[in-house]
Amino acid sequence: MPLNPENAKPIVFTDIDGTILDQKNSFQQTRPLLKQLQALATPLIFCSSKTKSEIELYRKELGVTDPFIAENGAAIFIPNGYFSFEYPCTEKNGEYTKIGLGESYEAVRGKLAKLATAINAEIVGFGDMTAEELAVDTGLPVALAKLAKEREYDEPFRLVHGSLKELARLANAEGLTLMLGGRYFHVLSGSDKGKAVAILKGLLAKKFGSIMTYGVGDSKSDLPMLAVVNKPLLVRREFGGRNAHVSTWMNLLRLVSESIRIEEDPGKAWIDRPSSVAKHNLFQRRGKPRDLNLKA
Ligand SMILES: [Mg+2]
Repeated sequence: MPLNPENAKPIVFTDIDGTILDQKNSFQQTRPLLKQLQALATPLIFCSSKTKSEIELYRKELGVTDPFIAENGAAIFIPNGYFSFEYPCTEKNGEYTKIGLGESYEAVRGKLAKLATAINAEIVGFGDMTAEELAVDTGLPVALAKLAKEREYDEPFRLVHGSLKELARLANAEGLTLMLGGRYFHVLSGSDKGKAVAILKGLLAKKFGSIMTYGVGDSKSDLPMLAVVNKPLLVRREFGGRNAHVSTWMNLLRLVSESIRIEEDPGKAWIDRPSSVAKHNLFQRRGKPRDLNLKA
C-alpha cells in the first residue's frame, strides 16, 4: 500500500531544545539529518519555547526559510512573500508577518507575580535575571542568554518554593497556560504549540494543497503540537538514552524519504540510488548513532 496515497507534501514541525539540540546545546549530531531533510524539499518549521531571535540563529545556520513558531506557540512568524494569499495577522514588518496569540509578556509576568503573591510562593523568571545570571542558570553563553531574554509573550520560570498545584489552579482560572518545558515551567496567555501549529497547518494546506504533517518533540509542552500533526514522534530518552533524539530524526528522515520515493516513482520505491539520502546508508544502518559517519 502506498505510504503517501494523496501525493501529500511532507512538512516537519519540530521543537529545538532536547529535540534537535543535545543536552550541551549542540546540534552537531542532528545537523546532517536536518540537511538531508532539506535536500528533500521538506519545509522545516521550528516550534519552540525559544524567542524569535534565538530561533533565527538556527534558521540561518541551516539556511531554513520557512515560517516558525516562537515562545511555546505564542507567535507565528511568516517570512514576507511565503504565502501568496492574504491571511489575518497582528503585525507586519520588513521581514516577517506575525500572528501573535495572547497577551503581552509584561501582562503575563504581572499576572504570574500576583498569583505567586496570593499563595505565598516564590518564583524566579527570565525577566528577573540579568543576562549573566541567566547564562549561569541555563548554561548558555551570555550572548545567547541575551537573546533568550528578548521575550514578547511567554515567561519561563522556576518555582523556588510554594505549591505548584495551587499556582496551576489559579493560572488556569486566570486564562493562563502553565506548562513544564524541558528545564523550566512556562506561563503564557491563550495559546500553546498545538494552537499555533493548527493555524499554520491551515495556511500551509492552502499553499501546498494536500499536506502530511510530522511533529517532533521531547517534553510535555510539545504534546499539544504532537496532537495536531499526522505523524507525531516523541524523543524517548528513557528508551534511547542520550542519543534518542538522533535515532528519532533517523526514523523521521526514513518516513519522509520513503513517502517521497514512492510518490516519485513507485516502481523504484525500494531501490537505493545515489541520492544525498542513500549515500549515508541510513536505511541499512538503523543501529546506534555511532554507526553513522556523523561529526560528533
Ligand atoms: Mg524540548
